[in-house]
Amino acid sequence: MFNARAYSATSSTSPLASTTIARRDPTENDVQIEILFCGICHSDLHTVRNEWAAVMPTVYPCVPGHEIVGRVTKVGSAVTGFKPGDLAGVGCLVDSDGTCPACKEGLEQFCPGMTLTYNSPDKHTGGVTYGGYSDSIVVDQRFALHIPANLDLAAAAPLLCAGITTYSPMHHWGVGAGKKVGIVGLGGLGHMGVKFAHAMGAHTVVFTTSPSKVEDAIRLGADEVVISRDAAQMQKHANSFDFILDCVSADHDINAYIQLLGRDGNMTLVGAPEKPLSLSSFGLIFGRKSVSGSPIGGLKETQEMLDFCGEHNITSDVEVIAIQQVNEAYERLLKADVKYRFSIDMASLKS
Ligand code: NAP
Ligand code: ZN
Repeated sequence: MFNARAYSATSSTSPLASTTIARRDPTENDVQIEILFCGICHSDLHTVRNEWAAVMPTVYPCVPGHEIVGRVTKVGSAVTGFKPGDLAGVGCLVDSDGTCPACKEGLEQFCPGMTLTYNSPDKHTGGVTYGGYSDSIVVDQRFALHIPANLDLAAAAPLLCAGITTYSPMHHWGVGAGKKVGIVGLGGLGHMGVKFAHAMGAHTVVFTTSPSKVEDAIRLGADEVVISRDAAQMQKHANSFDFILDCVSADHDINAYIQLLGRDGNMTLVGAPEKPLSLSSFGLIFGRKSVSGSPIGGLKETQEMLDFCGEHNITSDVEVIAIQQVNEAYERLLKADVKYRFSIDMASLKS
């Protein structure tokens, strides 16, 4: 074991603060990474504040962070894909059983034995896993990803969660040329959704509660922008969408979007608000519409998404911050005031 610097929360009401955690020494299949940047996902905030207590109660101290980019410092004797000095990324998963049907299909996110990057039982230490608000991490080589060399590292970090979480359902539901696609909520996930939908060739419509984000939405790739609190603007799009991706972190009316789907249209929820959402069955029945969910993505698809970003020069729009600003960043996240992802420069942990 060795000591790593990190930021952790010790309860659902305490701010994140500097601490020291123990990491395992790399075993033969492990890669040790010096973390350079880590994005701030709204899931970090939900977890730190124990807002998902009913599904995944938080174990404290909690070190969040699952949008990790860094440089490999050590590799185990059986590691083949990485060597010291290489860039590497780590997303929301750090382990899975490797043998179940989901793992065999490269869908580790559905493995019953998968281990999340933070707040999951850690089979190596006997405690819980600690995430990327830290100067280093050690992961099995299967869960380390290659970062295309042309991408800015601070802006590439959010691809590891916000990127794959939006890319995967769009791929699954056939987003592409000739499709009308809606993105609800222009935050970290939403702005990546806009970039992907645009790059995939879809007619892309952003739904936002923030009039101040209209110009940005167009710059990011939207063909149209709708202020979702304006009923008349919403009504103009009734029954017209093939696919809508809901990226909202708080309670909101999803029925207002279901009525915008065309026949057989699908709305996928990736946003995970604290409280259950209400759903009118009539909205789905007339039109044979569907609502589904989607969690992150498997390792194969995550690498494919990173390579797609390399080819199309897609990264996140980031505000780079020092770790000491993390609590302030959380407050801004709650006010939908981030353009469009915070990325923590981990060099600040040393100061
Ligand atoms: P974020 O950056 O905070 O963005 C959320 C956006 O939702 C805001 O920017 C805002 O957009 C909109 N919004 C916020 N409060 C709202 C309200 N009361 N009513 C309507 N719209 C509201 O969050 P994020 O990091 O993108 O994460 C979004 C959600 O996805 C979170 O719940 C997160 O936990 C979840 N998530 C899920 C997965 C998965 O695997 N499924 C992965 C990562 C994250 P506008 O200003 O444009 O309205
Ligand atoms: Zn996330």
